[in-house]
Amino acid sequence: MIPYGRQCIEEDDIEAVAQVLRSDFLTTGPKIPEFEAALCALTGARHAVVCSNGTTALHLALIAAGIGPGDAAIVPSMTFLATANAVRYCGADVVFADVDADTGLMEAHHLERALARAKDLSLNVKAVLPVHLTGRCVDMRALKPLAERHNLKMIADCAHAVGSAHHGTPAGSGLYEDFATFSFHPVKTIAAGEGGAVTTNNAEHAAQMRIIRSHGMAPAPQNGPWAYDMQELGYNYRMTDLQCALALSQLKKIDRFIQRRAEIVALYDRLFADLPSPFQRPALCCTDCVPAWHLYAPRIDFTALGMSRADFVLRLREKGVGTQVHYIPVHTQPYYKNLYGDIALPGANQYYERTLSLPLFPLMRDEDAEYVVQTIKDVIGA
Ligand SMILES: *Cc1c(COP(=O)(O)O)cnc(C)c1O
Repeated sequence: MIPYGRQCIEEDDIEAVAQVLRSDFLTTGPKIPEFEAALCALTGARHAVVCSNGTTALHLALIAAGIGPGDAAIVPSMTFLATANAVRYCGADVVFADVDADTGLMEAHHLERALARAKDLSLNVKAVLPVHLTGRCVDMRALKPLAERHNLKMIADCAHAVGSAHHGTPAGSGLYEDFATFSFHPVKTIAAGEGGAVTTNNAEHAAQMRIIRSHGMAPAPQNGPWAYDMQELGYNYRMTDLQCALALSQLKKIDRFIQRRAEIVALYDRLFADLPSPFQRPALCCTDCVPAWHLYAPRIDFTALGMSRADFVLRLREKGVGTQVHYIPVHTQPYYKNLYGDIALPGANQYYERTLSLPLFPLMRDEDAEYVVQTIKDVIGA
């Protein structure tokens, strides 16, 4: 079976973790600041705060952005559940924005529409969370003036975009957003087992997130060398030294990973060039974006193809090709429907109807991609 994604773990990664196991610190030790510094170098942001996963990264960023009960945040519906759920952890409301039907990305006019809807509902919108879906970046330059005019904090969900760049700056540099969040789940570009990070250029926010990720404990040496103060509710959102050592080892290879992913994307694009029109390559995004491809998600018109997506997926699976759908629009989930009722977001629905993520990971061989495409051609009789 060729899965849609998988990690690439090599002997040096294993050795890096083993070294931590032989050291004094398993959790908060020297690998934490080392990985944080490496993330600053990767993104160009001034501060990086690592944490237990990409979901807690979103939660930490939202807390530091001051989002709480009575507030609302705008989230594109075409994302993973976590982007919206983290807003709910803060007791705030989610206002779902639509996305482009071809790219799945939120654009300025979608944000404007969501702001107008929030106004009608008398919601107090304080943040917006653009999502760089599949590694292609949202046009942050177009969103920024809108966010400024409406006094919104921008939190870019970069879970798919580790190593992507837009407008000449790395994703998560903090040039366009107040915070950017990352995930190091094994299907993402670098694997830490579990892991996440927030980047920001604001030193106070970084310091606050470091305290909140460890129970809200702030050192209080004036009260004794042992003392700490808890001013604010914290959590245990720490990343371990074991995970940071793995992530650091993986980060050393990120250029190779991104390069190999780009090669497979180019190969897919070439092999799919002569497929019938119901089958289209993934849509590119804003000008000036250099994606680090996390997913390869072509657009397939299953109605025109005369085959349901479920049948297509099952027949590929029978032949050993794994696929996944990224994503079911979050606003259609029962939890959110119960909260906010039926919302019409036609772009998100149209994107969803046609999307299917094919296998893409650095360990794939050219023959694997060729097999995937040949299998698809066989299944659709092309
Ligand atoms: C994976 C992912 C997350 C959550 O990251 P975890 O590390 O799995 O908690 C958040 N947003 C998006 C877009 C993701 O793909």
